[in-house]
Amino acid sequence: MHYDVIILGGSYAGLSAGLQLARARRRVLVIDAGERRNRFASASHGFLTQDGAPPDEIAAEARAQLMDYATVDWLQAKAEEIQRHEEGFSVRLQHGGSRSARVLVLATGVVDELPDVPGLAERWGRHVFHCPYCHGYELNQGRIGVLATSPLSMHQALMLPDWGDTTFFLNGCFEPDEQQLAQLQARNVLLERGAIARLAGAGIEVVMQDDRALPLDGLFLAPRMRISMLASQIGCGLEEGPFGSFIKTDATKATSVPGVFACGDTARAAGSVALAVGDGAMAGAAAHRALMFGL
Ligand SMILES: Cc1cc2nc3c(=O)[nH]c(=O)nc-3n(C[C@H](O)[C@H](O)[C@H](O)COP(=O)(O)OP(=O)(O)OC[C@H]3O[C@@H](n4cnc5c(N)ncnc54)[C@H](O)[C@@H]3O)c2cc1C
Repeated sequence: MHYDVIILGGSYAGLSAGLQLARARRRVLVIDAGERRNRFASASHGFLTQDGAPPDEIAAEARAQLMDYATVDWLQAKAEEIQRHEEGFSVRLQHGGSRSARVLVLATGVVDELPDVPGLAERWGRHVFHCPYCHGYELNQGRIGVLATSPLSMHQALMLPDWGDTTFFLNGCFEPDEQQLAQLQARNVLLERGAIARLAGAGIEVVMQDDRALPLDGLFLAPRMRISMLASQIGCGLEEGPFGSFIKTDATKATSVPGVFACGDTARAAGSVALAVGDGAMAGAAAHRALMFGL
């Protein structure tokens, strides 16, 4: 079947795009690999009416509402390659087969590249976070660490004191200059210059190379974020953000390739559930406009 629109990525951004298109009775296929970025967290914060709800429940309810529309199909699969042809695009699937549509919406999110500190990956989303607006409040003004991943971590270290007593772990990543040291001091940020050996404990404890164990209520870091190769495969222009490249879009979420729209984390420097839903609504409406009035 040739669809009006294929949406790659069936999480918050893709579901929101799909809802606009479904309500315009367009034939939509959502292809989703099922790896939402926040699947490691048990609660999602900061999204109206769903503050504190489990992230998978928000996505499941949105999916159920979308699938009530008769013109929407869902495919659990990973898209591996996109090809442009005269009538639109065809998407090749990882485990065989392909699907085609006139218009594409890329809502494939990002993959977080975490620093290689033993014990960190298994605490991601539970005790180790990237976004203070999402998970800072629940730390109850407790002991907070910021792990430097680049000089840009200064920004996080200067923000986090609003959420608790903050220690900045440099871990050999960079050395603040005089001006930065003054800024950190003005925000009462403690500096820990030594190298980290591992994270340990039932909660979180930073164990230094010199064997000191520093208990924390939460640790923040800014990971590099990697987008899917699919966008560059079909020639979408990219933009460089502070933590990795993302798909360049205009105000309607159109990419540089006619007929391809992009929304959510994959198309902005930094994202959230609320922003992904807003972007998705825009991309869905713009994709519909392209179907009606041309690319
Ligand atoms: C630990 C953690 C906690 C977070 N907590 C919060 C929070 O409390 N509040 C908040 O607002 N935000 C939070 N975020 C951020 C939030 O997860 C993202 O902003 C949001 O998920 C972005 O939605 P999205 O639809 O753009 O991408 P995602 O939710 O990441 O979904 C992308 C989807 O595309 C699919 N996909 C990728 N490639 C392909 C492919 N080739 N073929 C098919 N499907 C593909 C993926 O499998 C996935 O299902 C958190 C992030 C992390 C890492």
